[in-house]
Amino acid sequence: MTPPADPAPGRVLILGGTAEARALAQALDDAGVAVVSSLAGRVARPRLPVGETRIGGFGGPEKLAAWLRDNAIAAVVDATHPFAERMSASAAQAAPAAGVPALRLARPGWTEQPGDRWTWVDDLHAANAALERLGAPRVLLTSGRQGLAAFAGNGDAWFLVRCVDPPAPEDLPPRHELLLDRGPYTLDGELGLVDAHGIEVVVTKDSGGPLTAAKLAAARARGLPVVVVRRPPRTGMPAVATVEEAVAWARARATGNTPASP
Ligand code: NAP
Repeated sequence: MTPPADPAPGRVLILGGTAEARALAQALDDAGVAVVSSLAGRVARPRLPVGETRIGGFGGPEKLAAWLRDNAIAAVVDATHPFAERMSASAAQAAPAAGVPALRLARPGWTEQPGDRWTWVDDLHAANAALERLGAPRVLLTSGRQGLAAFAGNGDAWFLVRCVDPPAPEDLPPRHELLLDRGPYTLDGELGLVDAHGIEVVVTKDSGGPLTAAKLAAARARGLPVVVVRRPPRTGMPAVATVEEAVAWARARATGNTPASP
């Protein structure tokens, strides 16, 4: 009797926009697994992963579910940024609806070290309230272009606003300097920035990862407080913290060999 044929290999959809998503695309491509990476299209000149790429929103969970079916996707890895809440929620709804297994790949958050002076807050509005309690500090604001409006009404603090692309002018606080830049950043570079601008407090999301962590080391070295925005809660998908774990999971799904959990 002829043994049953192996299931046809399927493509893996990587919801991207992060260094981990690019590393996963590379590793799966190296392993001969077909990947499609999806980017939101927010950044003017995104770093593109290897393999096929699509750009732009799917139009919500129902349309994403249809897209997964129409494009013969065998597995989804949500490797979006820890603060890309809506995309993750959409994938968590769409993948089961389409009968496609899904995994969340999320780098661990940052943890305080001896000498750190961190204040944890729930969102960017709370971060601005924390700044207002400090009076009129000179702030290195690294929380990104989106959500900047939370600081737009703060006329007391002075902000060095660092983003990849220019924000909407109406989102900027009255007293600011804009610095368009993209990581990775070095400790020397961050110390230079802090010193040159007389920075007194740093504001960041808990993005995690090594590429943008030097600002935390710089704040530690200069004894500066840091306001850290907590990650939004996640539900609905098994999760791993490393690219290696995601590679093993996705390879198994793409080849139909799925003994392991999650
Ligand atoms: P978001 O608020 O969760 O997403 C808003 C909408 O944008 C989603 O509902 C989806 O539209 C679309 N979208 C988001 N990520 C997408 C992707 N990878 N592929 C296709 N469509 C996507 O996300 P965000 O915070 O604006 O982040 C956008 C992208 O930038 C993400 O890919 C994320 O990984 C990256 N990023 C975000 C941050 C951050 O701080 N938020 C930082 C660095 C990088 P539909 O509902 O129409 O599908």
